[in-house]
Amino acid sequence: MTRKWRFEILLLLLVIFENPDRAPAQANPSKKLPSVVILATGGTIAGAAPTGTQASYTSGAVTIDAMLAAVPGIKDIANIKGEQISNVGSQDMTFEIMLTLAKRINVLLSQNDVDGIVVTHGTDTMEETAFFLNLVVKSEKPVVLVGSMRPSTALSADGPLNLFNAVGVAVDPNAKGRGVLVVMNDWIHGAHSLTKTSTTAVQTFMSPLRGLVGICNYGKNDFFNTPPWKHTTGSEFDIAGISRMPRVDILYVYADMSPDLIDASTANGAKGIVIAGVGNGNMNKASLEAAERAVKKGVVVVRSSRVATGSVGRNVEVNDDEMNFVASDELNPQKARILLALALLKPRSTSEIQNLFYIY
Ligand code: ASP
Repeated sequence: MTRKWRFEILLLLLVIFENPDRAPAQANPSKKLPSVVILATGGTIAGAAPTGTQASYTSGAVTIDAMLAAVPGIKDIANIKGEQISNVGSQDMTFEIMLTLAKRINVLLSQNDVDGIVVTHGTDTMEETAFFLNLVVKSEKPVVLVGSMRPSTALSADGPLNLFNAVGVAVDPNAKGRGVLVVMNDWIHGAHSLTKTSTTAVQTFMSPLRGLVGICNYGKNDFFNTPPWKHTTGSEFDIAGISRMPRVDILYVYADMSPDLIDASTANGAKGIVIAGVGNGNMNKASLEAAERAVKKGVVVVRSSRVATGSVGRNVEVNDDEMNFVASDELNPQKARILLALALLKPRSTSEIQNLFYIY
């Protein structure tokens, strides 16, 4: 080695020693970690109770930093930044917060230095926010929602491992292109199919009709299913210039339902009504007539079902063609409401809206 070379190598080592940021990537392995932004919205995962065995607690009491501090090893799998979008129990989730969240995700995912997003969220309405994001996020990069059934202070709190697994999915290149995902209790769900099934059990989320997208365990993932519906980059819905969503109500059908609930919804300005019908999206005669009245006033009526699984078929028990109704296909009432609200952002015929329910 010549003197000149020896001098230059010495100089390079000095520069690296003085300023580790300028070192080649290999000299600092943490530089190679993928980058994930955690967007916190509140929920039980950020909840706290005075004791570890108390059932009552306050949602959204814990900050992102405190949540991360409870998850050993999480910083070994990703470079993580956190932002607080809201701090609510998800019973108080609104379209306004969903729009803020979706717009922020679209900005972050357009940046080269962000590889994936994790959204911490209450479990009560997580399926609605997941499905909304599934339709309006414009990126193939992973977006993963996560929550917990037990507050951070509980015995056997489930939040820390759920959060670790969610970050593990968000950094996995195999998670790309499967739409928005939900990670809870080692299971990876697609936004279209999952639903909350237990008020208290840790294993609350199920994807009854279509099954899981995959499973995860301590950051190791196995994907075995790709949801067939359009989503994210394949979706036509664009909320870029939208600051307000149209009112869409859900009305629950029961034996001897009072039809004036449908009239009240129309009178109060609903642009769409989702019927959480009995069986195959059905309702009593008086309510069918009220729903027809609503349609004649320009309200779009979608028939979904209060039954936990199965699809609502067009013209099966109700003549949708004659009454100008839409059948929700596989979407449960709360997700049918999200799709209908997005559909109503621009003028569309009933048959166009029906088609949306088959492809999203
Ligand atoms: N009420 C809570 C929420 O949805 C429940 C939970 O997170 O599990 O925010």
